[in-house]
Amino acid sequence: MSRISVMKPWLGPEEAEAVAQVIATGWVAQGPRTVEFERAFSATQGVSHGVATSSCTTALHLALLVAGVQMGDDVIVPSLSFIATANAVTYLGARPVFADVDLVTGNVTAETLDAVLTPRTTAVIAVDQGGMPLDLEPIRELCDRHSLALIEDAAGGAGSTYRGRPVGTGADITAWSFHPRKLLTTGEGGMLTTDNPEWAARARRLREHSMDVSAAERHTSVLPVQEGYPEVGYNYRMTDMQAAMGLVQLGKLPEMVRRRRALADDYQAVLASLPGLRYAVDPEHGTSNFQSFWVEVLPDFPLGREELLEWLAADGISSRRGIMAAHRQRAYAGHSGLVRPLPMTDRLTDNTLILPIFHTMTEAEHRRVTDSLRAAAESPRNMRDHASLNGSG
Ligand SMILES: *Cc1c(COP(=O)(O)O)cnc(C)c1O
Repeated sequence: MSRISVMKPWLGPEEAEAVAQVIATGWVAQGPRTVEFERAFSATQGVSHGVATSSCTTALHLALLVAGVQMGDDVIVPSLSFIATANAVTYLGARPVFADVDLVTGNVTAETLDAVLTPRTTAVIAVDQGGMPLDLEPIRELCDRHSLALIEDAAGGAGSTYRGRPVGTGADITAWSFHPRKLLTTGEGGMLTTDNPEWAARARRLREHSMDVSAAERHTSVLPVQEGYPEVGYNYRMTDMQAAMGLVQLGKLPEMVRRRRALADDYQAVLASLPGLRYAVDPEHGTSNFQSFWVEVLPDFPLGREELLEWLAADGISSRRGIMAAHRQRAYAGHSGLVRPLPMTDRLTDNTLILPIFHTMTEAEHRRVTDSLRAAAESPRNMRDHASLNGSG
């Protein structure tokens, strides 16, 4: 029995060819392909400027810097997110303050953010968790009312929409990830998008050691150019090999989203008939790219979350515990930014799991997952019987 992965990137000979072409030119670091990818990606997202980075984490770090977040500030973030969201705030010596999330979307809302607002809050990072679009307009109003910078962590959100537009367009600045766990991948990589030209220009410099003349400009100039370093910067560059791959992947994005949504639809059709499981659905305000498809195991399901993970594993199906909660990690043990209990975050992180969903998933693989879930829902058999039945106990 072959193992079904929880996730696989969709890569082919086109990506290999694009990278080989870059290698043939001899310019493999950040250069013309990166500029091209920035323009193409930001145009697709309906935003004026794109600044490619080495990851979403580094894009978040730069976003906070250019938005003016300072040491000692508070930045409200969901705890229910990949830990990098909170870490980016910590890098600056600012304090991540954890907000709870909405049970249906797994995302922060204007209410959950408002509930933890502190006098020192200067910014918010709102996350489109697992590609699920945020309800941004009320959050935008809250941020405007309190003069807070609104940063969107749309790490896995490329291809998701909010009120008919791509996610990320309503925030001051948005960070994206191109890690293989997301839809569009460059191996590692990220992007920051914004309509603010000064922020984009400063982020562009900061990502390249704050050099006031880019390496690309120096390279194309015949005369030696004297560069200066007006502030302390970073090396957060993307390579042209990654950007070339990203351009090919960007062309495939609509197809990736279509396939994910079809797979999610099929999951939803089966799960609707299985009592005790609640699952990800499009919110009324947008459409998800289903970067992740999560299921919540409710108390009336015959198995608990851990047992269901084992059940699926015994059938050769990889699934994962749902989104982590940063406030429960050792990195944030005793953290003063936990100003209120986070009941919805705790409930989701304790009871959800992520089912396999990826572009090249076959109908047969999909059926194996739904058959296994159906059997788990219907069968009174205990875990050991199921495991031994499948030869893995
Ligand atoms: C994946 C992810 C990140 C980190 O992205 P990298 O590109 O790996 O740095 C940050 N935030 C969220 C919500 C993510 O899903």
